[in-house]
Amino acid sequence: MRIVLLGPPGAGKGTQAQIIAGELGVPAISTGDIFRANVSGQTDLGLKAKVYMDAGDLVPDEITVAMVKDRLAEPDSKAGYLLDGFPRTIAQGEQLRGSLEQLGQRLDRVVELVVEEEELVRRLSGRRMLVGGEWVQRDDDKPETVRRRLEVYREQTAPLSGFYEREGLLSRIDAIGTIEEVTARVMTALGQPGRSDDS
Ligand code: ADP
Repeated sequence: MRIVLLGPPGAGKGTQAQIIAGELGVPAISTGDIFRANVSGQTDLGLKAKVYMDAGDLVPDEITVAMVKDRLAEPDSKAGYLLDGFPRTIAQGEQLRGSLEQLGQRLDRVVELVVEEEELVRRLSGRRMLVGGEWVQRDDDKPETVRRRLEVYREQTAPLSGFYEREGLLSRIDAIGTIEEVTARVMTALGQPGRSDDS
């Protein structure tokens, strides 16, 4: 299956991406994670991306698209994948559609996690990650940057919802609830109800 997970910062995309990709047996490909790995590894790509990420802005499409194309060319992507954080602009969506068309492939489903903005701000300002045994705040989770990321989402990423709706691919999922509840809703939207339900 080829799935795109859409949703604003703080909607729980990363968490759900890991669980759902695990259930489906496909890799979860997170552009944010790939960028962060490159930033910590101080690669050329990381040094370029960091400036944009720290400002809460998007990394330019040409950098991001080339990186995703490389990732999708890896053998583990053959059986499908779950994209988390890509596409994030209409231009990226068009590039992805073009690459898939060339391969004679298409997306199976686009899942949008919906959370109201007030709740997103609450979640992001309290979010911490475990790094080397310590809980730290992500540089781009600082309040000013959070506001900018939400604005960028509204302006540049939210239009993808209509883009995929017109293609008949979109499922909007209420992402308020426990992690398990949200996973169950997503699995149902993917036509796999009960797979995440251990009971
Ligand atoms: P979140 O969804 O919580 O904002 P991500 O981990 O998905 O966080 O992304 C963090 C940052 O990485 C973004 O704010 C942006 O700068 C960069 N980034 C991630 N994916 C993309 C993308 N598809 N296009 C451009 N920039 C991206």
